[in-house]
Amino acid sequence: ALSAAGVCATYGRRTVLTAVSFTARERECLAVVGPSGSGKSTLARCLVGLHPYRGTVTLHGQPVARATGDRTAAHRRDLQLVAQDSVAALNPRETVGQALLRPLRHLRGLPVPQASAEATNLLARVHLPAGYVDRRPASLSGGERQRVNLARALACRPRVLVCDEVTSALDVHTGEAMLALLAELRRDLGLTVVLITHDLATVARWADAVVVLDNGRVVESGPTAAVLRAPGHAVTRALVGATG
Ligand code: ATP
Ligand code: MG
Repeated sequence: ALSAAGVCATYGRRTVLTAVSFTARERECLAVVGPSGSGKSTLARCLVGLHPYRGTVTLHGQPVARATGDRTAAHRRDLQLVAQDSVAALNPRETVGQALLRPLRHLRGLPVPQASAEATNLLARVHLPAGYVDRRPASLSGGERQRVNLARALACRPRVLVCDEVTSALDVHTGEAMLALLAELRRDLGLTVVLITHDLATVARWADAVVVLDNGRVVESGPTAAVLRAPGHAVTRALVGATG
């Protein structure tokens, strides 16, 4: 399980997360929802060690160091982010193959032949043809880029994937395919998924449990069915209402 306990984060003097606590159980899809600016992306970056915070993040009961640089190699691999902006996340000069080989060689320590074979496997996992190793980000569609980002995160063999609005730039069909893929990965690889979204329909269909953030605080949380049936907070009701 992945747990956050009392996570607080700031930008300069401005507090954007206040005492955020939750637990995502193994293989679970835990949705984090909340209005724009409520702190979802900041929380995602805290979980993977990219933003400083106070409080504690634990994985399988073990405290995780706060900054990526201080994390053990295992913890750096275990927690991976699929970022909100798929364009910014990829180096435009690198081919897809190069982007996948880097974590395979340097984080997993695979020699080149095994790393190349694994890159092909990863492309197949995200339903992209092997020939895509030679493509550059500019030549990919948004959905393809998002799948390359996912493949690159998977190259690290994570235990937890933090997915920040991975479907918001995609059409309904491509977005559904991405979410189905995440469900497949939870089943096949035992991954835990923290799914950040502002779309309650996505939550209803894919998430086991949900955490509602407003203004950097958890205002409500619980099993998806219970929260959506009887939302206890105005922010949740507004999100449910917006979905219809
Ligand atoms: P969205 O749904 O629009 O993606 P979010 O819930 O992901 O929103 P965050 O990106 O975490 O929200 O932002 C939380 C708050 O922190 C916002 O008020 C935002 O203005 C502020 N913020 C985000 N990034 C920075 C930054 N680099 N410097 C200063 N403030 C920031
Ligand atoms: Mg965001």
